[in-house]
Amino acid sequence: MCLNAGYNGINNRRNLMGREDTALVMTDKIVRPKLVLVVDDQELNRDALSAILEEEKYQIIEAQNGAEAMEEIYRHVDDLSMLLLDLNMPVMTGFEVMEKLRADDRVNHIPVIVLTADTSAELKALQMGAADFITKPFNMPEIIQTRVARILELSEGRQLISAAEHDRLTGLYTRNFFFEYAKRLFQYHPEMHMDSIVINIDQFHSINAVNGRDFGDVVLRLIGDEIRAFLAQTEGIASRIEADSFDIYCISQTGYTNLLETFQDKVNRLSPNVSIHLRMGVMPWREGSDPVLTFDQARAACNMVRGDYQNPLMLYDDNMYARELLNQRLLNDLNNAASERQLQVFYQPKYDIQCDPPRLSSAEALIRWNHPELGMIFPGDFVPLLEGNGLISIVDSFVWKEAACQISEWKKKYGFLLPVSVNLSRADVFDPTLVDRLLCLVRDNGLDVGAIKLEVTESAYTDKAKDLLDIVTRLRELGFQIEMDDFGTGYSSLNMLSDMPIDVLKMDMKFIRNIESSETDMRLVKLILDIAKYLSLQVVAEGVETSRQLELLKEAGCDLVQGYYFSRPVPPEEFEKLIEAELSTQREQRN
Ligand code: C2E
Ligand code: MG
Ligand code: MG
Repeated sequence: MCLNAGYNGINNRRNLMGREDTALVMTDKIVRPKLVLVVDDQELNRDALSAILEEEKYQIIEAQNGAEAMEEIYRHVDDLSMLLLDLNMPVMTGFEVMEKLRADDRVNHIPVIVLTADTSAELKALQMGAADFITKPFNMPEIIQTRVARILELSEGRQLISAAEHDRLTGLYTRNFFFEYAKRLFQYHPEMHMDSIVINIDQFHSINAVNGRDFGDVVLRLIGDEIRAFLAQTEGIASRIEADSFDIYCISQTGYTNLLETFQDKVNRLSPNVSIHLRMGVMPWREGSDPVLTFDQARAACNMVRGDYQNPLMLYDDNMYARELLNQRLLNDLNNAASERQLQVFYQPKYDIQCDPPRLSSAEALIRWNHPELGMIFPGDFVPLLEGNGLISIVDSFVWKEAACQISEWKKKYGFLLPVSVNLSRADVFDPTLVDRLLCLVRDNGLDVGAIKLEVTESAYTDKAKDLLDIVTRLRELGFQIEMDDFGTGYSSLNMLSDMPIDVLKMDMKFIRNIESSETDMRLVKLILDIAKYLSLQVVAEGVETSRQLELLKEAGCDLVQGYYFSRPVPPEEFEKLIEAELSTQREQRN
């Protein structure tokens, strides 16, 4: 059984994401001739045993006493399959060898068969971890061969299980074993009240990318060590579930803030040049909740504090539970939402403020969900949820279609072409049919590509940057205008900005909020405007609510403004009033 696994393993080894799998390395060892160390101070005994075992194709090395044996063991630490060990020897006895083996994790898996003429030593040898005995003199070769073979088989089975059971890097349990043991604890020890904890590293992929995988491994190993140190003081088990995600199932307690601080402190000391931020989600014990569910909840809590370096710990609570139920409901109800016309597109105008009076220049299409029971739901309550599982594409397609129809309808009704921006999510950008879908949309509605502008959030540019840049460049080449949405909330540096295929910067509303009272904020806005001008980018200021904000932005040279000052997002019928007002202003100006 093992041999088959071994051959398959070797063949498959290189396919496994370039990494060697511990269990497979073990199987590789199993198919090679096995190396056995025979330790006895009597040459005659060594010769006799070697002859018996070589018949069975074992490879034999010999040592005359415990001290020599220890040297051989460490010399062959990766290959040694078994030790046949005499007990009474000069320099170092067999018992001393076993004691040393037991104390060292690198070698304590090597099985030991004790060679003895004295049956009274058997119990002590067993207690010290001996796997079996062979009695001297060695006059029954078949029995010796059978015992050695059986112990080897047992030990290999155990090592295979142990390799699959433990994560090679941290020594913690691997995912499947962890959940199996957690479930058993839950099932057979209901009296133990267990908390579920998830620990994650923010932006771990960047840490790896910038500092190298070896450094990443050091971080993971350190966290593993810290978790083990924690579990030495309390009851529980832990796993590295995947990459940089750790799960702990431990006796219910308080003090998680301190625990996270301790871990964070240790990680901070690794390198003065790298900042590493840990976050933690905890699902405190609740009657009857099994670990599969509680770890989902702890993970959800942990994800809630992603990027929040001020509050990196989140305990799952009733609000989160209510939110989870709501999310489930929204996901279920989404199917009918589009067909039953619960989804509606609202439009918010963007005005060119360098004209006097400001001129209606375009609009942004924003989704609204008019739920029959829950009432009007705003995108903040469902867009991130749908982005998390790709379903946002359904909503986006709907919005794009509606917007394209609407532009075409207004063009016919008013003879006025109002370009409309639509939001693109990450799932859309990486959809291979994106370009074709957009082109069809434009063509089917008799529009020019300039009629639909595409808003892509800044944060999308920082992830998977290369692929995104290629797609956005292609869209621009086809004539679509690209607006970088929420500029200032992501992490793009100014030099990145100069290489980005964009036409418009949408300055996030957080920059605008305090420009009336804060000189620093106003200076920042001016700086962004200067850079944009230098890069020949238009700027839209988002979230403009007051006339003073408008005035300041106008003076600073901002081109376009979107915000409640002009209008909230409104349904198309209401938006028509803005178009009509605009047309009447234009008529007045002409006259
Ligand atoms: P966004 O694309 O940055 O849209 C601007 C948001 O700012 C809108 O929120 C708008 O109502 C709000 N806003 C505009 N002016 C003001 C103001 O003066 N003050 C304040 N406080 N807020 C203002 P909304 O409609 O709730 O949308 C939120 C976000 O949801 C959008 O941010 C966008 O990221 C996303 N979203 C909306 N519709 C869609 C859609 O169809 N598809 C996708 N993928 N995302 C969408
Ligand atoms: Mg937008
Ligand atoms: Mg925005």
